[in-house]
Amino acid sequence: MTDFFERKKQQLNIALNNVQKQAVLQTEGPLLLLACPGSGKTTTMIMRIGYLIEEKHVDPRRIKAITFSRASARDMTERFSRFFPEREPIDFSTIHSLAFTIARSYLATSGTTFDLIEGGGKGRQSVNKAFLLKGIYKEVLKEDCTDDELASLSTFISSIKNSMIPLEQWEELKGPVDKAGRMARKYEQYKSRTPGHLLLDFDDMLTIAEQGLRQDEQLAERFRKLYDYLLTDESQDTSLVQHKIVEHLVAHHGNLCVVADDDQSIYTWRGAEPDYLLEFKKVYPDAQVLMMERNYRSSKEIVELTSKFIKRNQKRYPKDMHTENKAKEPIYIRQLDDSKRQLEYVTYELLGESNLNEVAILFRNNSSSTMYVNELHRRGIPFYMKDADDKFFSHWIVEDILNFMRLSFNTERKDIFTKIVMKMNVFISRSMLTTFENTATTGNVFDAIIQTIDLKDSQVKKLKDYKKGYDVIPDMRPERVIQLIRNDLGYEAALKSRAEKFGYRFDHLLGILDTLEGIASPLRTMVEFANQLKELEQAVQQAKFQPAENAVTLSTFHSAKGLEFRRVFMIDLLKGIIPSEEDEGDTATLEEARRLFYVGMTRAKERLELLSYRQDEGKPKEDSRFLNEVRGLLLKPSKVGNEPKSVKVSKASIPVNPNGIDDGNELVVGAIVKHRVFGQGEITVRDGTEIHIQFGEMEKRLDLETVLSLRLLEMVTL
Ligand code: ATP
Ligand code: MG
Repeated sequence: MTDFFERKKQQLNIALNNVQKQAVLQTEGPLLLLACPGSGKTTTMIMRIGYLIEEKHVDPRRIKAITFSRASARDMTERFSRFFPEREPIDFSTIHSLAFTIARSYLATSGTTFDLIEGGGKGRQSVNKAFLLKGIYKEVLKEDCTDDELASLSTFISSIKNSMIPLEQWEELKGPVDKAGRMARKYEQYKSRTPGHLLLDFDDMLTIAEQGLRQDEQLAERFRKLYDYLLTDESQDTSLVQHKIVEHLVAHHGNLCVVADDDQSIYTWRGAEPDYLLEFKKVYPDAQVLMMERNYRSSKEIVELTSKFIKRNQKRYPKDMHTENKAKEPIYIRQLDDSKRQLEYVTYELLGESNLNEVAILFRNNSSSTMYVNELHRRGIPFYMKDADDKFFSHWIVEDILNFMRLSFNTERKDIFTKIVMKMNVFISRSMLTTFENTATTGNVFDAIIQTIDLKDSQVKKLKDYKKGYDVIPDMRPERVIQLIRNDLGYEAALKSRAEKFGYRFDHLLGILDTLEGIASPLRTMVEFANQLKELEQAVQQAKFQPAENAVTLSTFHSAKGLEFRRVFMIDLLKGIIPSEEDEGDTATLEEARRLFYVGMTRAKERLELLSYRQDEGKPKEDSRFLNEVRGLLLKPSKVGNEPKSVKVSKASIPVNPNGIDDGNELVVGAIVKHRVFGQGEITVRDGTEIHIQFGEMEKRLDLETVLSLRLLEMVTL
C-alpha cells in the first residue's frame, strides 16, 4: 500500500507541502493552523479527515467538522467527495445545527418546551422575532422603527449573545439605536415570560447549548463521547460562545484542529472573536501552532498585490504571503463612465467566457445584484446566487410603482388609488382618506376625491394635473412611466419626506427606483414590465436553489469567503460603498472593511478586475479608497530616492527626520502622512514625479524626489 500522501498526489495532483503534511499527521491534541488565503487550509482540513478515516481507521461518524455557514458546509462536502470519491460523505455541519441538537437535548431534560421565532418551521405562526422587536421598539421609543434600525438592533442583540455578555449588563450597553440595551433586555424577558416555555432565536441555540454543556455534566459527557476529533474551518469568524461550545466538547481528548486566517475576519460586527486565536495557547497550553504562508491559489501578481495591501492594517498577526505560482495577467482596474457601462462591460466579457463556473461577480451590497440578475436573465447567461436578494421584489417601493401603474388601466379603481394617494405628495391626511374611503363615489378617482374632500386650491391643482398625467400613461413605455411617477406624480418628493420622517436612507430608496427604471428600460409595455419582475423573482429563486450547470456566481464579498474562481470581477468599488460611511467611523471598522476587500481580491486565481465608475444618474462618484490604495501599490517601484541629482534644496539646511519616508512605495494614494510644516494630510494623487496631498482645506503638490531624499513626510498610522 502506497503512502497516503503519495496516493493523493497521484490521484489529485496535489502534493502537500511539509507544513500541510504535519497538520494532517498531527491528529492528536490541539492544533491551530493560522494561514493566508489560498494556502490550503481547507484542503489540509479535508485531507486530515481523509487521513483519519483511511489511515487511522477512525469511524467517520466520530469526526465532527464544523463550518461557518450552510453554503460552506456544502462546499466542504463537495470537496470531500472529490478528494475521497470512494468514501461516504462525512457530516459537515454548521455550529448552529450542532448547537441546536445540544440545546434541544438540554431543554428536554428539564421538560422545557420552546418555539423558534426566526427562520421557518415550528413557531413561525406564533411570534416572530422581527415583529417582537418592532413592538418593543415602539414601546420603548414611542415611534416606529425603520427596516434599517430593526436590522441593526437585531445584529446588536446577536452580537451581545455571541460575546456572552451577562444579561445583567445588557441594560447599560450602548447600541446602534437609542436605548438598544434596554430593548435587548425587554426582548429577552418577553421570550421567557411563560414558565416552562421559551421563545428562542438562532443565537439562543448557542447560548443554551453552551450553558447546558457547562452546567449539566451528564449532557456534556453524552456529547463529548460522540466525537473523538473536531475540526473548525474559518475560525476567525467564530464567536466566543461558539468557541466555548467547542472547548466543552473536546475537554477530554483535546483533539481539535482549528483553521483560521485573522486577515479574513469579516464578522466582528456580529460578535466574531478573532482575538481568541491569539489566546489559543492560553486555552490549550499544549497546542501546536502552524503557519502557512504559501499561496497556491492565485497568480504571482495577485499574491504580491494582496499581500502588500493587507499589510496596511495595523491590527494583525504578521504574515508574509508569497507564492511559487507564475505571473499570469496584470490586475485590471477600470473606472467606467457610469453603472450602466459597468454592467455592459461585465456582461460583454461574460459572453466571451466558455467556463462560467470559474467566474464570479462580487459586490459589497446585495442591492447591486438586481441589475446584474436582470441583464444576465435577459441575455440567457446562467447564474448562481449564494445569498439571493429576493427581498428586492417584495419591497414596498416596487409594490407602489406597480400600484401607480395599475391605476392607469382603470382610473376608477378607488381601492388602488387609496393605497398610493398618500404617496403623491398632495398632503392628504389619514382622516381625509378615511372619509373618502367611506363615501360612496363613482367615476375617475381624481375627480371623486376633489368632490368629496375639502381640499386647498394647491391640492386641487395638483390632483387635476395628476389626472392629466394619467391620461397619457397608457401609451407610454414603462421606463417613462416610472420617470413620470417619480417626478410628475410627486412620488419622489413623497419618498423624501418619508425618508426624513422614518429615517430611511433616501439614496437607497432612489437606488431602488433607478433599478426599476433599468429593468423597464428595454421593455415596451407596463404588462411586460410587471411580468419581467415576476420572472426575475423566479429566476433568483431558481439561481439559489437549482443553479444551472455552467453558471457565473453572483455573491457578496462576505459570502464569497473560502471560494475561488479563475476570474473575479469586483464591482461598485466606490467611496460610501466599500468602505461604507459607517466603516469610515473608526480604525477597527475601517480595517474590517479592508479585510473584506482583501477577501474579495484573494478569491481570484488568474484574473482580477476591480471596477468603479465616475458618475451615476448625474451624480459624481468617487473611487473607493481601497481602490486608490491598490493603484498606489501597483505603481512600479520607484527608482527615485537614492541619488537626488536634480534636488536644489541644500540638504544641510533641513534636519533629516529619521522616521521620514524614503521608500517611494509607501507613498500611495490614500495614505495619511505628516509634513513638518503643513501637518497631517492625505495623498490624493501620485504620478511619476509628483504627489498631491490634501492638508485640510489646502492641496499641495510636492516633488517626489525631494520628498523622498529629504524624508519630508512621516507615515501616520490611524
Ligand atoms: P481561504 O483562506 O480562501 O479559505 P484556503 O487556505 O482554505 O483558502 P484552499 O481553498 O484549501 O485554501 O486552497 C486553495 C487552492 O490551492 C485550492 O485550489 C487547492 O486545491 C490548492 N492547493 C492547496 N494546497 C495545495 C498543494 N499543496 N499543492 C497544490 N495545490 C494546492
Ligand atoms: Mg478555506
